[in-house]
Amino acid sequence: MSTILIDGQWRSSVNGQTIEVINPCDNKSFTTISRGTSADIDLAVAAAQRALDGAWGRMTATERGRILMKFGELIIKNAEEIALIEARDTGKPMTVARNDIVAVARYFEFYGSAADKIHGQQIPYLNGYNVQVVRVPHGVTAHIIPWNYPAQMFGRTLAPALAMGNAAVLKPSEDACLSGIRLAQLAMEAGLPPGALNVVTGYGYEAGAALTAHPGINFATFTGSPEVGVMVQESTAKNAVPCVLELGGKSPQIVFNDVDMDKAVPIIVKAITQNAGQTCSAGSRLLIQQDIYETFVGRVAEAFKKVKVGTPEMDLDCGPIVNAKQFARVKGFIDQAVASGVPLLARGVLADGVSPEGYFVAPALFGAVPRDHQLACKEVFGPVLAAMPFSDEEDAVRLANATEFGLVSGVWTENGSRQQRMAQRLHSGQVFINCYGAGGGVELPFGGMKRSGHGREKGFLALEEFSTTKTVVLHHG
Ligand code: NAD
Repeated sequence: MSTILIDGQWRSSVNGQTIEVINPCDNKSFTTISRGTSADIDLAVAAAQRALDGAWGRMTATERGRILMKFGELIIKNAEEIALIEARDTGKPMTVARNDIVAVARYFEFYGSAADKIHGQQIPYLNGYNVQVVRVPHGVTAHIIPWNYPAQMFGRTLAPALAMGNAAVLKPSEDACLSGIRLAQLAMEAGLPPGALNVVTGYGYEAGAALTAHPGINFATFTGSPEVGVMVQESTAKNAVPCVLELGGKSPQIVFNDVDMDKAVPIIVKAITQNAGQTCSAGSRLLIQQDIYETFVGRVAEAFKKVKVGTPEMDLDCGPIVNAKQFARVKGFIDQAVASGVPLLARGVLADGVSPEGYFVAPALFGAVPRDHQLACKEVFGPVLAAMPFSDEEDAVRLANATEFGLVSGVWTENGSRQQRMAQRLHSGQVFINCYGAGGGVELPFGGMKRSGHGREKGFLALEEFSTTKTVVLHHG
């Protein structure tokens, strides 16, 4: 399949090479994608620059918004087809894939309708001067996204960038990019001019590295692992190009002794098992106040035992891990924890009939996990929950903030003053109180503190992040 989009044309890679696409449910190849390299990136960046110099650059914000909203409509119209592609590529349950596609459409509706609602400023200055601060696109923007929510990430990263008039080059993950290919076809159908959106499939170390190091880009946004995020920042820094990094997390769910248990348990279980735990904002640490520890962890264990893992068609609670490397990594964490004597409190179940060749992992609940154990601080990126007791509010804050990450926190308490204090003291980009919205909500600014990254996507803040300002000083006497 020719999966590279440059200047509105679908093409094979310059070197003609391809990459096999593996079904995580049975470890079998079912199609190929083009293996783009630096030669393809050069062409894509040049096409994006031409779009900025041409029709796309001249388009009004209202016209851009209209195209994005039309794109949103086309996504909804083709939702079932895209959901099937997404489920096959990632292994996720059909219901989840369907929800993801509705979310992608929402990104284009939200930012399409916001495109002409971002205003500049006029600044009072010296007599005889008119000073305006206008918001302008960065120019050519580079977008590197991971495999866990490929369709949603496509919308999250591209919708605000295109709304602000940037011309984008997307390098989706080599592990899951098929929904992105179909979405890009629909973007063309919606009327996006050639070159406004370019897609280069390929490996991260080839196409991805070439894109972030390219002297022709003006901005980069990366979602993925902290290790690669640092490499992206280094390479963009060499060209003095700003970048947004959305990296991993080890998000705490902090449960106080006045929690509404019936409400909390299902949400906490879903927040770590949804998408087989392959969610950057998964609630992967369960911190429970000592005096209710046994009762609460027992309730969570009962719920964990009912979590079922299967194929997209079985449409259960979660699917497989995305690839062999991640599968080995997740199993490694579980095996190491068991070997080092951390109590394994509960496991979910693999459905009858799943292939032994697939990358299926039964969700695992561990507790009480020692505070210095790797399960307490390292990101697993799989369905593994680490429960730990804490004594009081002070201890809860210390423990919650004790990792190198700071993406999302969940707080469970009915005490209003404590809700406020906790929200203030937690070091994370989002705090949910008596709810948990891993991944959801296009309206809500999202991003990390500490090693979870910097910069914000989603919400109106993304429109500011994906643009810059120009101060125009006019002397009229
Ligand atoms: P990854 O960092 O290996 O890959 C992410 C993307 O970067 C892929 O498209 C890959 O091809 C590309 N890439 C790899 N090497 C590159 C390089 N040298 N230069 C440029 N691009 C390169 O991560 P992954 O395995 O795909 O995803 C899992 C990780 O991503 C987890 O750690 C998870 O926490 C994180 N993640 C974060 C968020 C978030 O929003 N914060 C969302 C999803 C995943």
